[in-house]
Amino acid sequence: MSSARIKKFVLTNSGNKLRKDDLIFVKRAADVEYRLARQTVIDYWKNGEIERENLCDAQPMLKRNAIHCGVLIGESCPICESGEIYYVTYVFGPRLPAHGRCISTKGELQRLNDRKSQLSAYVIEVCPDCGWNHLVRIASLGGK
Ligand SMILES: [Zn+2]
Repeated sequence: MSSARIKKFVLTNSGNKLRKDDLIFVKRAADVEYRLARQTVIDYWKNGEIERENLCDAQPMLKRNAIHCGVLIGESCPICESGEIYYVTYVFGPRLPAHGRCISTKGELQRLNDRKSQLSAYVIEVCPDCGWNHLVRIASLGGK
């Protein structure tokens, strides 16, 4: 592909590219932040109290989803320090796959939020390089 064609390809696809806001815009009082738990785990690892393989155990599917459906958040991996962190969101609830719906398109989360049934969105941070993964947030969706 010529550089002009690549540029055109990138431009035409950038409009559909997910941004951080597309994944984690929902915030309610009952939502739980896992930032503190994450920091505790990282501190344990830095103190040698947790093995790296217990932290960097992302399944291949989770790593693929992070790259293809996730959003780069502009942070380096706290474990390997060379990889970049992606946020990827899975939604669980009635009429969704048992393994959750991986949010991959703009507006998808909003459509799910408009549903009558109560849903749960799990935002997970993933480093595809080393496999580090941690829950960032569980958000309530739907139930209107
Ligand atoms: Zn990493």
